[in-house]
This record gives sequence, structure tokens and C-alpha cells, in this order.
Amino acid sequence: MDAEIISVGTELVLGQVTNTNIPLLARTLSTLDIKAPHQVTVMDDQEQIVTAIDNARQRASLIFVCGGLGPTTDDVTLKSTAAALGTGLKTDDQHWEWIKGTFKARRIEMLPENIQQARYLAGGTPLANPVGLALGSWYEQDGLVVVVLPGPPAEFRAMLEESVQPRLVEKYGTGRRIASRTLNFWGRPESQLMDEIEAATEQFQDMTVTSYVQPSQIQVRINVYDLPTAQANDLLDQVTAAILAVERPYFFGVGDKCTLVAEVVEQLRARRQTITGAESLTGGLFQSTICSVPGASNVFNGGFVTYAAGAKEKLLGIEPEVIAKHGVVSSQTAAQMAEKSRELLDADFALSFTGVAGPDDLEGHPAGTVWLGLAHRGQPTKTKELHLAAYLGRQAVRNLSVQYGLQM
Ligand code: ATP
Ligand code: MG
Repeated sequence: MDAEIISVGTELVLGQVTNTNIPLLARTLSTLDIKAPHQVTVMDDQEQIVTAIDNARQRASLIFVCGGLGPTTDDVTLKSTAAALGTGLKTDDQHWEWIKGTFKARRIEMLPENIQQARYLAGGTPLANPVGLALGSWYEQDGLVVVVLPGPPAEFRAMLEESVQPRLVEKYGTGRRIASRTLNFWGRPESQLMDEIEAATEQFQDMTVTSYVQPSQIQVRINVYDLPTAQANDLLDQVTAAILAVERPYFFGVGDKCTLVAEVVEQLRARRQTITGAESLTGGLFQSTICSVPGASNVFNGGFVTYAAGAKEKLLGIEPEVIAKHGVVSSQTAAQMAEKSRELLDADFALSFTGVAGPDDLEGHPAGTVWLGLAHRGQPTKTKELHLAAYLGRQAVRNLSVQYGLQM
């Protein structure tokens, strides 16, 4: 069974935006053994959209039309798709009420055009959008399935996972039973990690291991096929144990939704402990990352952003001699930043970040040189030096520093 993916967006055609939705959708389809050999991108233009759908119907029985569901006049995807299919549009009244309520609560004036975002293909089913305003559509007609999804990547991903994938599994699932488990890693290059995992899991059958790199973690998914639940779980346990026997130092948690920061906050919460931070090159990014987790207030009271040497001395009480003797990019400064901030807020842990975000050198250290400090109540302070890939840019160096700190 072949699918076809049609991306709609003038900005995609002109190369102003990189198309990240197509690969995500293609990966999802491939897990169901559905291939999309034709992946087409057209402009926000009714004629182009209609032509693309007409062409797709010649060779595919599952068609995705992605992007261009906004309320502005340049977004014509839904009415064009309806025209191509010879159907109309329907308004989901309940969703329309919800949109109006949302605007009212935010004290923003609503445009009459916003009603477009409550519309879906007549004869089809609306698809809920958990992170945006526009509904999607799932439409079936004489063996043809057409799925319409919004373009913003966060909405696209959420709807794909929550409403489209379950429907695809129900309709096209091979009946093969797949049980899977996701293990999350950080701090090892993907190719090395996967080579070692392949070697460690060679002896197992009826299973595959795949990896998916994200900016803050590598997700490794174990799939086992066609086994009764108890046996499947047993095999997942065995494969997990074989992988962790080799990769334990880089492992931080199980599950698709697991992140390093959420794991850190959860472990602190479970132990009723608190953490603070003293940040130089990360400029508050670590503390902001902690605050991104619901319930962070249980483990985080506040912390310090001490960018310049003077601020490290004034806010934290770092001894000027330490900085004069060792420099700010040093184990000694990192250790003092962690210790002083921990003491000042009486926290159980404190992490410190000092280093060179780049692009220029600092104190003779190349960009990407970072010292982390970890102070722990009643324990010796630890420090760690990182040599991050400065060519990735300042922001990447800062993000990576935070992830390595969380791992510590
Ligand atoms: P709205 O206009 O209300 O945001 P929409 O469904 O009309 O919703 P689009 O106009 O298609 O969304 O896209 C909005 C933005 O989302 C684009 O400018 C682009 O930045 C991003 N975007 C759209 N499609 C893709 C894609 N395939 N890959 C990556 N980013 C995309
Ligand atoms: Mg658009």
C-alpha cells in the first residue's frame, strides 16, 4: 500500500523553512510498513494543491496534505482539498466555542476568519489539535484516505502521535504484535552507542533496535515482534539488561516522554532534596531548564547568574585570588561557584557552569571549553571539564553544557 505526502507552504518551496514534517511522517509510516515514494511540496495555491491531490490519487490510496490551515487568506489548504475531493467543509461547533473562549481568556481580539480553524472536511472526522487552534481532518471515500494536518511542527508532531498514528495502526496494522520500550541515553556519540548496542544484542531474535537522536538525548527503541505479552516483556527485559550491561553510564531513563531534566527533578523530588545553580556561560539556561518541568518548585528555590568575574565575587563571594590565580575557566572557579551557591541557598546540590561559549577564545582556552562543578551537601565537590564542538555555535555549547551538567 503506497502513501503520498503533500506539503503545502510557499516558504517550504522557496527554501525559507526546512521541511521537518515529512521525515517525521515518513518514519512513522515506515514503522507500519507503509512507504511514501512520492513526497511533493507545493505553494499555498489552490490550483497547485488540487493538481497535487489529483496526481496523488493516481498512485496512492493514503494521502497526507500538511500545512496551510491557518486563518489568514494565504492559507487555502482545506478548501482546496475539499474542492479536489468534491466535498465541502463542516464547522465543529464545540471547537469553535473553544477557540472563542481561548481568545476571550487571553484578551485578544478574534478575527471572523478564525472560524476556519474549526472547520474540517465534510464527510470526514475532525482530528483534535492538543497544542494549537486548527483542527485536522481524516476523510475516507471509496478506499481513499485523505489526512489533513497543520504545518507548525509542534502541532504536526502532537497530532501525528496522538490522533493519526493510532488510526493508522487500526486501519493498516499488519496484525503483527509489536511491543516496544524506549531507553534514553546521553553523553555518547550515536554511532558508537549503536555499534556497541548491536554487538551486545546480537544473540537475540525477533527484535530490532533503532535509534533517534534529539538535541538533548538519544532515544533507543527496542521492538519485539509477535510474542504473547508475558514473553514479549521478558524479552524486552533481557535486551534492556544486555544493553545496560554495556551502556549504563550513559543511560538515564525509560520511556518516550523521559528527559534528563525531568528525571533529575523527579529523583530530587522523590528524595526531598533541592538544587541550585551558579551560571556563567549558560546565563541562566540551567535554571530555566529546571523550571521547564512541572513541579520544579519542589526542588528549586532560586540561584545565580554570574557572568562577569565581578559578579562571581559580589554575588557568590568567590575569592578574587582564586580567579586571579586559576582564571574563570578553571576547576577551582567551578568548584567555588558550586560550593558558595549551595551554601548561600542551603540547597542539597548546586551545579556550576563556567567556560567559553565562543566564538572567541577566553583566557587562552578555545571556545567549547567548559568546567562544570557539582557541590553536594556533606560530600566532596566534583568538577568536570568538557571540550564541546564549538563549530556548532554558542547556543549549542550552552545547551550541551546544561545537558552534561544534568547528567552529572
Ligand atoms: P498557522 O498559519 O496558523 O500557523 P498553518 O497550518 O497554516 O498554521 P503553516 O502556514 O503551514 O501552518 O506553517 C506555519 C509555520 O510552520 C511555517 O511558517 C513554518 O515555519 C512551519 N512549518 C510549516 N510546515 C512545515 C514543515 N513541513 N516543516 C517545518 N516547518 C514547517
Ligand atoms: Mg502557511
